[in-house]
Amino acid sequence: INSKLPSLKTTIFTIMNTLAKEHNAINLSQGFPDFDTDSKLLNLVTKAMHSGYNQYAPMAGVFELSEQIAKKMNRLYGAKYHPDTEITVTVGATQAIFTIIASFIRKDDEVLIFKPAYDCYEPAIELHNGKPIYVQLKAPTYKINWQEVKEKITAKTKMIIINTPHNPSGSLWSSMDMLALEKLVKDTNIIVLSDEVYEHIIFDELDHQSACKYSHLKERTFVVGSFGKTFHNTGWKIGYCAAPADLMNEFRKVHQFNVFCANHPMQIAFAEYLKVDSHYRNLSPFYQDKRDLFLNEIKDSRFKFIPSKGTYFQLLDYSAISDEGDIDFVKRLAIEYKIAAIPVSVFNSDNMDQKMIRFCFAKKDETLKMATNILTKI
Ligand code: PMP
Ligand code: GLN
Repeated sequence: INSKLPSLKTTIFTIMNTLAKEHNAINLSQGFPDFDTDSKLLNLVTKAMHSGYNQYAPMAGVFELSEQIAKKMNRLYGAKYHPDTEITVTVGATQAIFTIIASFIRKDDEVLIFKPAYDCYEPAIELHNGKPIYVQLKAPTYKINWQEVKEKITAKTKMIIINTPHNPSGSLWSSMDMLALEKLVKDTNIIVLSDEVYEHIIFDELDHQSACKYSHLKERTFVVGSFGKTFHNTGWKIGYCAAPADLMNEFRKVHQFNVFCANHPMQIAFAEYLKVDSHYRNLSPFYQDKRDLFLNEIKDSRFKFIPSKGTYFQLLDYSAISDEGDIDFVKRLAIEYKIAAIPVSVFNSDNMDQKMIRFCFAKKDETLKMATNILTKI
């Protein structure tokens, strides 16, 4: 077969899930909660199913849900979006990201990506014959050198993909970062894809800097969100994106033939559930407690860390424990110690290995205690 993606391997999430299962390991690798979504939400879905919402949803999404999303973005970020023309409900953030890239990237277009990066961006770029250009950030702070970014922007730069709060590092973009990006893209035709799926999981009283807070960024940006992260139901695969109408119009040309629409009863349920905004307002303290529990328990271990500032991931530096490459190390942890993590090198350019591994702390306290019990013995 003449593969379109000859060097692409199976995603690390599938590899580590399989290994965790095979060895009966505590699975802190892929990012998903081991507790259930709110029963109120389950009841709303059941109600929607019994009320006949079992056929296709409107192509762009259920209007009342888009309205709730627009209200939230206005309330939190002061950004105005028209629910009918500027918001589309998608099959998770992944489909939004794929469709944005498919809608705009042509052969030889350059797409700037900050590494380490979540692994769904590049295959989509390559499938459309675009060229990923990397800005590699370094552990432990993952700070951005804006001079380097400036130097990597060329006449061929079509898109810049950003992600804050950042998976896997748990770092956040500051307002200085957003202003620097805004300055670079102002008066260009560059489109920004701002992956903000962890927008409601921010710690230590810090603020989420959404790209839509910055007027010159907003006019060229797709903001991408995911309900799976916010409402503990990653398996439902409901997300959305928001962008100015001219960009969204191009997005929908592809979306209508990519999936046509996202799951209907879940959209009806979310439209109702989102009327109460305390659901996501409680999320940061909820996960901050979990982060603190996890870090407190391992503070005397041989792992080193900087506390995550957002997302439900914590990076641990194992350089004081082993010289092994991070992939070998996580495999050994799963097999010998029965705990599964994600090696960060798979998200870096040239698979740079900085002896960092990622743990998901979206777990019951008892799971976290079992995990830290193991980690302190390594
Ligand atoms: N972006 C980032 C940074 C992620 O961590 C994830 C993981 N789920 C996604 C996008 C995809 O989100 P979804 O599950 O809604 O497709
Ligand atoms: N976003 C999840 C993570 O980073 C993974 C989702 C997936 O497997 N595609 O763990």
